Amino acid sequence: MTANRPWAAHPLARELDIALSAVREAATLTREVGAAVDHGAVAKPDRSPVTVADLGAQALICRSLHEAFPADPVMGEEDSAMLAAPGAEHLLARVTGLVAERQPGATAEDVCAWIDRGHLHEHAPRYWTLDPVDGTKGFLRGGQYAIALALLIDGKLAAAVMGCPSLGPAANGDPGDGTLFAALAGGGAWQMPLLAEGAPVALRTSGRADPTELRFCESVEAAHSSHDNAARVTAHLAVTATPVRMDSQAKYGVVARGEADAYLRMPNRRGYAENIWDHAAGALVVTEAGGTVTDIAGRPLDFSRGAKLVMDAGVVATCGPAHDAVIGAIRALGLAG
Ligand code: AMP
Ligand code: MG
Repeated sequence: MTANRPWAAHPLARELDIALSAVREAATLTREVGAAVDHGAVAKPDRSPVTVADLGAQALICRSLHEAFPADPVMGEEDSAMLAAPGAEHLLARVTGLVAERQPGATAEDVCAWIDRGHLHEHAPRYWTLDPVDGTKGFLRGGQYAIALALLIDGKLAAAVMGCPSLGPAANGDPGDGTLFAALAGGGAWQMPLLAEGAPVALRTSGRADPTELRFCESVEAAHSSHDNAARVTAHLAVTATPVRMDSQAKYGVVARGEADAYLRMPNRRGYAENIWDHAAGALVVTEAGGTVTDIAGRPLDFSRGAKLVMDAGVVATCGPAHDAVIGAIRALGLAG
């Protein structure tokens, strides 16, 4: 079975296996919700959207992790508070139904308890971080989204799994059943079919060095990443290709497999600190594929401080050789804060 488990000899092979099957199970749920007319979307207190898919996926993944690694805390994006609010009975019933389809016998209490197992707030020596539906806005409009799970040990990325149900295995191809990315620190990065059978394929970034030839990608949402400042950077580098806009950490996946050469996330709101679950899985996939990931000043991302990365620092992920040129352009334009 080595062809299907090239990571078999790695010390975290079991962690990766469990994470892969947990993300696969959650993806069946998010795909079912994605295909329904009503995505069960409601606004969180910060006005960002959350859906029954986010809540159901977090419940399933936390359940799997707890069963396999009962001592490991999980820092997930969601909690069950909104399901307990008056008037939310229909939402709770729908999430419970979706989870029980996959975990027969699951009750509403089980579902809330599983979701809240993912509610670690602070750094721990070994813990998982989870964004059950990264790019919820993309999920709602039928764009890209990712189920992103990473293991942190002593503040460092150790293992990563990223399920991208709407991303095909090759550029511009049919999304098929979606793509699953995996990475282990010091072990490599792979992609494989998300739900269909298929062997993992080792990933390498493009290795493109000439800055003028770089193919960039960025967020669809200008509120999440300044399109204007990204355009200034690419103009400074004399880049010719138009950036591809894509929701979620799928952007890291396309850089890791050489379909894009760089992912730029230019800060757009003073004082915004990125959440670790929006970057942990994707960043390990890119670095293990030979790429480089830093903030916009060229500093390594620091995952050791709890739920947030450094304030106002944005993110630059590249295929590697052209990284310094991109950081140099940001600095030359005075955009590095
Ligand atoms: P993307 O799909 O790349 O646009 O990223 C989606 C993520 O952006 C969400 O999971 C949010 O946590 C995050 N987000 C929300 N507000 C901001 C902001 N002002 N700046 C950067 N990221 C944000
Ligand atoms: Mg997110």
